Amino acid sequence: MSFKNLNLISPILEALEQEGYTQPTSIQSQAIPFILEKKDLLGCAQTGTGKTAAFALPIIQLLESKISDNRGKRTVKSLILTPTRELAIQIGDSFSAYGRNTRVNHAVIFGGVSQNAQVEALKRGVDILVATPGRLLDLMNQGFIKLDHIEIFVLDEADRMLDMGFIHDIKKILTKLPAKKQSLFFSATMAPEIKKLAETILVNPSKVEV
Ligand code: AMP
Repeated sequence: MSFKNLNLISPILEALEQEGYTQPTSIQSQAIPFILEKKDLLGCAQTGTGKTAAFALPIIQLLESKISDNRGKRTVKSLILTPTRELAIQIGDSFSAYGRNTRVNHAVIFGGVSQNAQVEALKRGVDILVATPGRLLDLMNQGFIKLDHIEIFVLDEADRMLDMGFIHDIKKILTKLPAKKQSLFFSATMAPEIKKLAETILVNPSKVEV
């Protein structure tokens, strides 16, 4: 299996070559086709499996094709929710690397630092927003972020989200997302309460496990 077999566009294939990736990991070869088909996805995978590229590559591809026919202002079309600042930064770095030859851009927002630079980035307009729940709600409440144009929503590390007590924040954020969207749900474990949360978010999901 190669990245080319996954029908990825050449700007992405070139970025992967620049990264030195020669072939997709198991989660990537399983998940990317479903995501490109715009299906909801339930992924059971830990950090270290290549999970980030498994969702980042198809998201960049789906949004890049949209940007070509959209001359208007940038709106947030994909939201990635992740539990920690470290993960948010890592995911942002992945989007920078994999999207370097595309027009898709992103911003990363997390708590514990001044919001000014984050607000400036949002004002310039972003396609993809990588966020931790608390800072996202904070900036939403201040009117800096609208989520009504979200097309692809990712809940990353759902089990850690619940362990860290983010369930109420997540539920609040979910009420602000459009009903019609593609949702991708990743968790290292699938305990009953995680399955329950997945069922409230996903519609007829494809399932992948590594
Ligand atoms: P993740 O599970 O997303 O945290 O990724 C773990 C590490 O694997 C990261 O350092 C990635 O840069 C790297 N990685 C992801 N996909 C591939 C691949 N197909 N080939 C080589 N390295 C990869």
